[in-house]
Amino acid sequence: MAYTPMMEQYLQIKSQYPDAILFFRLGDFYEMFFDDALLASRELSITLTGRDAGAAERVPMCGVPYHAADTYIEKLINKGYKVAICEQVEDPAQAKGIVRREVIRVFTPGTYLTRQKEQQHNYLAAIFFSSTEYGLAIADVTTGLLQATQIDGTEKDGHLLAELTRIMPAEILVPASQVTCQLVDEIKKRLAPALSPLPEEQFRADKAGRHLEQVLGIRWRDSGIGSYPGALSATGALLAYLLETQKNSLGQFRNLQVYTAGQYMILDANTRRNLELVFSLRHRERWGTLLWVLDKTRTAMGGRMLRTWLEQPLLDMDRINQRLDAVSELVEDTFLRQTLQKQLKGIYDLERLATKTLYSTVNARDMLALRQSLLMLPEIVSICQNCRASLLRDIPPVVNALQELGIFLLAALADDPPATLKEGNLIKSGFSAQVDRLRQAARDGRNWLVDLENREKERTGIKSLKISYNKVFGYYIEVTKANLSAVPADYQRKQTLANAERFITPALKELEQQILGAEENLIQLEYNIFNQIREKVAGHIEMIQQAARWLATVDALVSLAEVAFTSGYTRPSLTPETVLYIENGRHPVVEKVLDDGSFVPNDLTLDKQTRLILLTGPNMAGKSTFMRQVALIVLMAQAGSFVPADRAVVGLVDRIFTRIGAADDLAAGESTFMVEMKECEIIVKNASPRSLIIMDEVGRGTSTHDGISIARALLEHIAVNIQARTLFSTHYHELTVLDSLPGVANFTMAVLEEGQQVCFLRKVIPGKADKSYGIHVAALAGLPADIIRRAKEILADMEKQALPSVTQCTAATLQQQDKQQLCPNCESVRRVLQNVDINHITPVQALNILAQLCANK
Ligand code: ADP
Ligand code: MG
Repeated sequence: MAYTPMMEQYLQIKSQYPDAILFFRLGDFYEMFFDDALLASRELSITLTGRDAGAAERVPMCGVPYHAADTYIEKLINKGYKVAICEQVEDPAQAKGIVRREVIRVFTPGTYLTRQKEQQHNYLAAIFFSSTEYGLAIADVTTGLLQATQIDGTEKDGHLLAELTRIMPAEILVPASQVTCQLVDEIKKRLAPALSPLPEEQFRADKAGRHLEQVLGIRWRDSGIGSYPGALSATGALLAYLLETQKNSLGQFRNLQVYTAGQYMILDANTRRNLELVFSLRHRERWGTLLWVLDKTRTAMGGRMLRTWLEQPLLDMDRINQRLDAVSELVEDTFLRQTLQKQLKGIYDLERLATKTLYSTVNARDMLALRQSLLMLPEIVSICQNCRASLLRDIPPVVNALQELGIFLLAALADDPPATLKEGNLIKSGFSAQVDRLRQAARDGRNWLVDLENREKERTGIKSLKISYNKVFGYYIEVTKANLSAVPADYQRKQTLANAERFITPALKELEQQILGAEENLIQLEYNIFNQIREKVAGHIEMIQQAARWLATVDALVSLAEVAFTSGYTRPSLTPETVLYIENGRHPVVEKVLDDGSFVPNDLTLDKQTRLILLTGPNMAGKSTFMRQVALIVLMAQAGSFVPADRAVVGLVDRIFTRIGAADDLAAGESTFMVEMKECEIIVKNASPRSLIIMDEVGRGTSTHDGISIARALLEHIAVNIQARTLFSTHYHELTVLDSLPGVANFTMAVLEEGQQVCFLRKVIPGKADKSYGIHVAALAGLPADIIRRAKEILADMEKQALPSVTQCTAATLQQQDKQQLCPNCESVRRVLQNVDINHITPVQALNILAQLCANK
């Protein structure tokens, strides 16, 4: 048995969107059928029903009301599905046969904005793979951001992963043939994006070029991307996908920004995570991150901008200083800062609002938000044009035109429009003579109704008579049962209720036609005018984007200044030399979390003499905090922010590397130690003398012998071969002998011991630790007293026993070896010294002994 014509239509459309859930519009519902229905009913917890579709069996079906569809779509997108929206595209009243239906848009994870993401970009990415290079293109459909880059060299896998970790795309497009390759597998494991395979040919350069021309209207051969074939292929494929899913001209994409790795500090994927820039390690949330501390932005655009800055610290000193200049000015001038904050608060998300005007789903309230934001512009411009800093003063020339647009919208749009476009009340009186006329007619009609009611009351003498309206009968006159005898002959009965009857009269119906006709026409007319206004605004999209970028920059700068001011940060000075001086540096996040001024600041000096600091000290003493704070201070400085220190001189860093413990990557299926070693591999292979390396307790994940050996070999390699500025913490006290290597110095965490009590001073001081205080920390953590007591016994026993513990043994051997390496005569010197009784020799005797030692040298 064949399907019904409607089901045939469904199947035909569904066949074009096999990988999306098809929302098929039937009346007031979106219906799903077959497998889509089974899946959606499960994922959305909605009832599965069935429908007779002409075939032998009933077809599985489920549906959601169209006015509530957004919530359901969002749920499905968040679970990684795609949703194709199929609408009726002709008026059912005028359709011959079944109504024509078409898919008007496909929502995918990378092209749909969910509510919780307002402060971040929602990225769609496309990757092109070849043996020599990768192309990466990213787009944010909601803001019109479009960027591309090309990644090559031996390290390209790592770079691609690092970029993707920064971007966190909601959806990634890859050539179908690559879906199962190892690198894509790795991406899947780490980022869990939605992966959408695309046919290979979408990545072909000629095709890609054509899509670029179509969307951006640029000749790609003339544009910067021509010299990056990989980036071109990725961008082309991405645009092709967008054209197919958005089904419009993609007017929000006005330009393509091609960037190269050399513009930004490189932060590999681990380092991004370890430093907790925008997500915390533990809970993957914003609380406790650098962004959490620094983000006091007042607009969503500013929030996105600031986040990008923190994730892409700069390498160019001039650009960094431009930002710092602006932050300085805003720190110094509290009035300026506060005025701008107040103004920025009134600005809505211009980038996203501008994009919305391209889609017919934009509503009048969005337009009002846009209008209000545009009307705020002149005020902000007048504040900024007198600033010294170029980033504040660089007001885009489009602001005048936008101000006019704002004034136009002020005259055109009603001040309190409803949420939908089908109820009228969109256009302000005085804007369109035609609208005013219809409105008058509707209003007059209503007055006439009141007149009519009064007249009828008088004529019939029925005081309780009233004229009302319902959808079925339109206007009617209602008379209670008690008064029915007074009803005149020209009343026509329409309906009988329990205690009243309803009538109509020819005069009433005539009035009704006037009123309803006027209202209907008015709604249609207002809708049409609104659409014209929308198109006019959409024509300004590029200008709005430019203004939005400037506002976002101002907002981000004000935010940095605000935090700098309230938290006592200072302006770092930058230099090309490979030094790093910090006076009273603090950890921005830990300081804020403690929130009671108890954070202990620390100094740091790294220069030609001391490039590598070997930091020992007990657990919980503050080693990790100190090392991270140094990395964060460098990163903040190069992002253009003030830093939590009394003074900081930052020699530009090309990359920050971190190897920080406890980042168990169980989800990615690797052991801690494997992860640790992979991170070390990345460091030794890629660090340069301009890099900053943070190594926190390397070798912890394996046996003591292994651990010490690996840590030592790594340290030697870094100190001798790489010569990067390095902080190296270790719990292997044995390594402290390495301060004999060039540029290596021992530092430790100050500890105050009073009897049984141990107090961590959190101060980094020159020297080395000789104890680890592990039992003390165990006691602090609340381990039961008898266990602590027993541990102390065991430790005391072990220390007493002639047989040294494994660690001591290694330590002794190491020390011996080192001494011999450093000074072959050590033993004889020691023998001489052993025989000296320092309390019973004269200065002359001492000098003689010294002379003897020197002679033996
Ligand atoms: P370690 O790496 O030496 O084991 P951490 O750096 O993890 O120690 O520090 C342990 C705890 O000590 C931190 O969680 C923090 O609360 C506190 N702490 C660290 N450094 C400081 C500091 N400079 N001032 C105040 N508290 C600190
Ligand atoms: Mg630590």
